[in-house]
Amino acid sequence: ASGYSLLRDPHHNKGLAFTEKERDSHYLLGLLPPAVVTQQLQEKKLMDNLRKYQVPLQKYMAMMELQERNERLFYKLLIDNVEELLPIVYTPTVGEACQKYGSIFRRPQGLYISLKEKGKVLDVLKNWPERSIQVIVVTDGERILGLGDLGCQGMGIPVGKLSLYTALGGVRPSACLPVTIDVGTNNEQLLKDEFYIGLRQRRATGQEYADLLHEFMSAVKQNYGEKVLIQFEDFANHNAFTLLAKYGTTHLVFNDDIQGTASVVLAGVVAALKLIGGTLADHKFLFLGAGEAGTGIAELIALEMSKQTKIPVEETRKKIWLVDSKGLIVNSRRESLQHFKKPWAHDHEPVKDLLGAVKAIKPTVLIGSSGVGRTFTKEIIETLASFNEKPLIMALSNPTSQSECTAEEAYTWSQGRAIFASGSPFDPFEYNGKVFVPGQANNAYIFPGFGLGLVISGAIRVHDNMLLAASEALAKQVSDENYNKGLIYPPFSNIRKISANIAANVAAKAYELGVATHLPRPANLVKYAESCMYSPVYRSYR
Ligand code: NAP
Ligand code: MN
Repeated sequence: ASGYSLLRDPHHNKGLAFTEKERDSHYLLGLLPPAVVTQQLQEKKLMDNLRKYQVPLQKYMAMMELQERNERLFYKLLIDNVEELLPIVYTPTVGEACQKYGSIFRRPQGLYISLKEKGKVLDVLKNWPERSIQVIVVTDGERILGLGDLGCQGMGIPVGKLSLYTALGGVRPSACLPVTIDVGTNNEQLLKDEFYIGLRQRRATGQEYADLLHEFMSAVKQNYGEKVLIQFEDFANHNAFTLLAKYGTTHLVFNDDIQGTASVVLAGVVAALKLIGGTLADHKFLFLGAGEAGTGIAELIALEMSKQTKIPVEETRKKIWLVDSKGLIVNSRRESLQHFKKPWAHDHEPVKDLLGAVKAIKPTVLIGSSGVGRTFTKEIIETLASFNEKPLIMALSNPTSQSECTAEEAYTWSQGRAIFASGSPFDPFEYNGKVFVPGQANNAYIFPGFGLGLVISGAIRVHDNMLLAASEALAKQVSDENYNKGLIYPPFSNIRKISANIAANVAAKAYELGVATHLPRPANLVKYAESCMYSPVYRSYR
């Protein structure tokens, strides 16, 4: 191959880091200025440049450009500066990028499968240059973060998630495949936007939708086998639960919005018990929002409670209450409830709003999963704090503008007593001379390690007990030093180690359940997970 194309191949390009010998033997002489630099120096230069941009979206675009130019350097930056760059390549900035994807779009990333490709999905998969795929993240763009229907422009999400699979979980970049299924969009603004990149039609539903998804799922299994993980991402809840149930018994599927969220929030709750006291079953939970996140979390908490107490899950669910857009979910509403809400319809008189529900239920834990910002009002938090010494408040809605309350509000309105974590990051806040560091209940704690655990064990099915195993491993990573700052999640700077521990615990569960195909089972799974992780350090070409 020519040196010129080597410089343009992001998988192999090292830029000025090509050594004299490599330049000589790979036809690079004259194509680079004389200086030979280290990867460290390249990293320093790029971080300096990145920090000069004031606008997060510009940083995002610079990172995408780097990914297209020099993949290893992109991952080196991401891994070494994870706390700084996570909000750029992932929520919240990735959300803005999706909204503007049509105009910032340069080179296409990932695979686009639209209704036009119906009947040809297997051929589309064969156009992808990599043959050995381990993780697919797929969206249909209908519910991107808390931003709603972004149609085909949702592609930013699978791309971003998979770069975290590599950076945080160590899955090889070449084994990752981002996919967007385009069945149209109901976003009027996009349909009118001359720069929109997707199908210009309203969303297909019903049989037409189900058929395209089925063709995709079958083609994936046919092309990549049974051990490829298919992560459903940012589907609207009317499809998400159905798809997960439908393919859970035939494919290795995982829905991050339902299951990943559940696992990361359960870990935070379990860790918080050290600060607020009691066992899981001693607490009473109230959710604002009964969609994918809310009901997914509620179910996993109920399962863990049931496991700990040996009380059937039908009973432990009664400690958990949810409020949706119509008020508290109660038995008298059962007939009209979507199926995934029915397990949460308990006996109680109707309550129309969250404040009423807080007063009536008197929860010890308040969780926001509604996608609607500023819904944990002063009155609600003051009420919660009036009967809880240390209320646990989790404001999960993303992006930052949709957070149910800010860290400042949670700490101020509870007079510094709340244990607070949120979906989007907040800066530390000083109240009465004490600095509180809000934890981030970020799915990125769980899914990369979870996926790695499935990959290294060769798992063929996902089981709820694996989600519990992931939660348990994450909660164990919170140190006393973290707790002293009010944190219920460990710092992201340790994420590779955290992921390896999660992967090991998940893999162990896969072996225990008999769904692992990578045999024999490695003796030390943490060491094994670490040894499997991708390293972004340059390789030398002879
Ligand atoms: P979803 O499936 O659409 O569910 C939203 C739920 O909120 C529905 O039950 C809806 O009620 C309810 N709701 C909407 N507006 C409301 C209002 N004004 N008052 C009361 N309830 C209201 O969405 P999702 O996937 O669960 O995601 C919800 C939010 O959680 C998003 O902002 C997302 O970014 C965030 N999230 C965060 C994390 C994390 O922090 N790790 C993970 C996942 C999701 P109806 O059912 O009556 O329509
Ligand atoms: Mn998501």
